[in-house]
Amino acid sequence: MKCKAVHSKLIFFLERELPEPEMKAVQEHLAACPECALFAEEMKKTLSILETEKVSEVNPYFYTRVKAKLDRQSEIQPSGIRSSVLARVLQPVAFSIILILGIYGGVKMGATGAKTASTFTAEQEMVPYLNDMDVEPLETFLME
Ligand SMILES: [Zn+2]
Repeated sequence: MKCKAVHSKLIFFLERELPEPEMKAVQEHLAACPECALFAEEMKKTLSILETEKVSEVNPYFYTRVKAKLDRQSEIQPSGIRSSVLARVLQPVAFSIILILGIYGGVKMGATGAKTASTFTAEQEMVPYLNDMDVEPLETFLME
């Protein structure tokens, strides 16, 4: 399994929503690929933060409203596809993860191609941007 495939399945892997063979494939890849393992670790942290917020139920009324909305949506568009309420709630998270993935991918490409002149310039341009974001893992990533 390729890293990209693993990344796209990771959220479902962490929610244990993958069919058994895929669960196994992802698990094996994570064991062999430190990069994906790290990514999985980050994602797990994000998910557990969401979980904690859900449990604390600071605003139960909000939750009720969201749930009512979700119920209504599933009435309007009953789908045969396996889409749990959780999956739908997590969709925005999945999108931001895809965004982060894009940044990771971009940095990785910059780092591996750093020897050619064009990517070197691109990397130069990226550095202040990264500093602005103050994302430590990305900077460590660049140093390697
Ligand atoms: Zn990998």
